[in-house]
Formats: sequence, C-alpha cells, structure tokens
Amino acid sequence: MNCPKCGAELAQKFYKGMFEIDACPHCRGMWLDANELDKLEDRVFDEDAQKGSLIHFQKETQTLCPHCAKPMLEFQYRLYDLKLEYCAENAHGFWLDAGEEEKVIEAMRMRAQTVRRKTSAEGEWKQTLKNMHAFLKRSSKKK
Ligand SMILES: [Zn+2]
Ligand SMILES: [Zn+2]
Repeated sequence: MNCPKCGAELAQKFYKGMFEIDACPHCRGMWLDANELDKLEDRVFDEDAQKGSLIHFQKETQTLCPHCAKPMLEFQYRLYDLKLEYCAENAHGFWLDAGEEEKVIEAMRMRAQTVRRKTSAEGEWKQTLKNMHAFLKRSSKKK
C-alpha cells in the first residue's frame, strides 16, 4: 500500500505495542483499519455507548483510499475540532495525518473525564434523594 498523501510506501509498524498499523515513513501519517480506530480509542475510553457518533459533516476529498483507490471522505471526528478521512465506499478504514492519533487519544481522555464527572454527580444526587426520602419517612412516622 502507498501513502494516500505523499505516495511513499507504507510500512507496517506496531503502534505502541497494541496493534499493527501501516505508517508512512515520509509524512508520518497512518492508516487504521476499520476496527483499529476503535481499538485506539478504547485504550483510554472503552464505553462505546458514551463516545458519541463518530462521523459528522462529511465531505469528499481528493485523497484516495490506499486499499481501493476510491476517493475518501473527510469528516469531523465526534464533533471535536479534528478532521479525519475514511473510505466510505468499502469501509476499509481511516487515514490519520501525523499527530492526529494523539488528538484522538486526547479527545477520548477528555470524554472519559466528562463521563466520570457526570456519573459521580448523578451518584451524589441519588444519595441526596435517598437521604431526603429517609428523612421524610422518619418525620411522617413521628406524627
Ligand atoms: Zn506519506
Ligand atoms: Zn477503500
């Protein structure tokens, strides 16, 4: 496979000991197969239901899928300030320019924090309601 951005031949590389990716030795972009983007996210945040929709505002590009040479679509990643490309035609996978994988990890780290904060706030509120309920029960018994 060749790099869809600069044409250099992609080299297989073990990404942070997690899985094999095809990386461009020249422009440092990387190709992720369809399920590998999910694996990358799961490294910091694995609650798929809480991740939000993946693809927003997609538009056509001139970049060709390294697998099938169809034009890829650019999309806004989970409503973050990050644009990635993917092969919509055959769902082959995603192209990440240099450093974009770090942005994906950072976005998921932020999402994990938000969800954790929300969950603990909900927990506290439930406890408050429980206390209130117990209190009302107690005071109604006194009558
Ligand atoms: Zn390249
Ligand atoms: Zn393709």
